[in-house]
Amino acid sequence: MKNTQKCPKCACKKILRIPPFKGDNHNMIMIKLGWLKFIRVYPVRYLCEGCGYIEEWVEDKSDLATVIKNKSKLFGL
Ligand SMILES: [Zn+2]
Repeated sequence: MKNTQKCPKCACKKILRIPPFKGDNHNMIMIKLGWLKFIRVYPVRYLCEGCGYIEEWVEDKSDLATVIKNKSKLFGL
């Protein structure tokens, strides 16, 4: 939806971009580096106004590189 501007489920073209609220403990990817040491990555959500379908994207290229580099230490909340 981010790239096509169209919902893959219902073909609606009204797509809402929802930026992450940093500090929210839900909607985030955590990388555990050690005891109480974490990196947090916050995906951007895209919501279809037609059916409610949601996509999530790690848009920031440096965040994406960090996630890939630490893929063995990932978990989501
Ligand atoms: Zn839809």
